[in-house]
Amino acid sequence: MIPYGRQDIAVEDITAVVEVMGSDWLTQGPMVPEFEKSLARHCGARYAVAVHSATSALHLACLALDVGPGDVVWTTPITFVASANCALYCGAGIDFVDIDLQTGNLCPDAFAAKLAHAEKAGALPKVVIPVHLCGQSCEMKVIHELSRRYGFHLIEDASHAIGGRYRHMPIGCCRYSDITVFSFHPVKIITTGEGGMALTNDAELAARMTRLRSHGIIRDPAEMEKEPDGPWYYEQVELGYNYRMSDLQAALGISQMDRLCQFVERRQTLARRYDRLLAGLPVQPLWQHPDCQSSRHLYVIRLRLDDMEVTHREVFTALREHGIGVQLHYIPLYRQPYFQRMGFAREQYPQAEQYYAEAISLPLFPALTEDEQDKVVDTLHRVVS
Ligand SMILES: *Cc1c(COP(=O)(O)O)cnc(C)c1O
Repeated sequence: MIPYGRQDIAVEDITAVVEVMGSDWLTQGPMVPEFEKSLARHCGARYAVAVHSATSALHLACLALDVGPGDVVWTTPITFVASANCALYCGAGIDFVDIDLQTGNLCPDAFAAKLAHAEKAGALPKVVIPVHLCGQSCEMKVIHELSRRYGFHLIEDASHAIGGRYRHMPIGCCRYSDITVFSFHPVKIITTGEGGMALTNDAELAARMTRLRSHGIIRDPAEMEKEPDGPWYYEQVELGYNYRMSDLQAALGISQMDRLCQFVERRQTLARRYDRLLAGLPVQPLWQHPDCQSSRHLYVIRLRLDDMEVTHREVFTALREHGIGVQLHYIPLYRQPYFQRMGFAREQYPQAEQYYAEAISLPLFPALTEDEQDKVVDTLHRVVS
């Protein structure tokens, strides 16, 4: 089976991890700040806080922005469940903004309309989490202008998007947001096994997330509420978690960062090749906005079902049966039983519904060969015609 995505591990990566195995530090040690610096430098952000997943980074980002009971967070329904769960962990409510069918990203027009409505109802969100689907940035400039006008905070869920660019700047620079979050799960652009990072230009948000990732404990006497009892003394000043990244993971991350540009270039080359090979078929790749350079985490096509005699499900099943490990990113979150119980209605999200009825993710990862790619396209060709 050709998978839809997979990690790329080189000998250097293995050597880097093995070296840390013999060092004094297995959990958070000197590799973690080095990895953080590497990402902050790459993205042009002031601060980076490494944690053990993007899920925990999203949770800390919400906490640092004081999301709590009585607040509402908005995100897109076409994302992984973690983009919404982070708000629920904080006791806040969640709501969804419909997507732009062409890109799969949060639709700026639907968003503006929903905000105008929410303002009248006195129900504006505290935080909005745009998700850069497949590695293509949302229209952050417009979204940021709306955040100023209506007074909410922005967390970019860039789990797919490290190595991508928006308006000539690296995703992660936080030019148009308070915090940007990356994932290093093995299917993503670079991996640390499990891992995540929150970037920000705000010193206070960075300090808060750093404290919360390790139990809400501080060790700097200058920041303490009480006089230290002795050299052993530390203070827990709020309720935090153990969300730390280990040095083993960070060493892998540092090593993977050396090949980030290579990974993204290879993904972009393969994506352009798909564009060419698929041109004659009744399928539509996601549209690429001229302001964006996608990291190409996923290659999603939408089936033009009116032009074929097979159903979406039949195409998907046939591809799997022929050894093509396609996937569907994503089931709209409001369709999940857990979210259904909160009373969301499909009718509110016509674009997300249509996307869900048509979308399929084709295999795309750096080690995918042209032969494998040809097999994907040939199989798809046979299935749809
Ligand atoms: C993978 C992913 C996450 C969660 O990442 P983890 O590192 O596995 O916690 C969150 N949001 C999106 C959009 C993702 O694709």
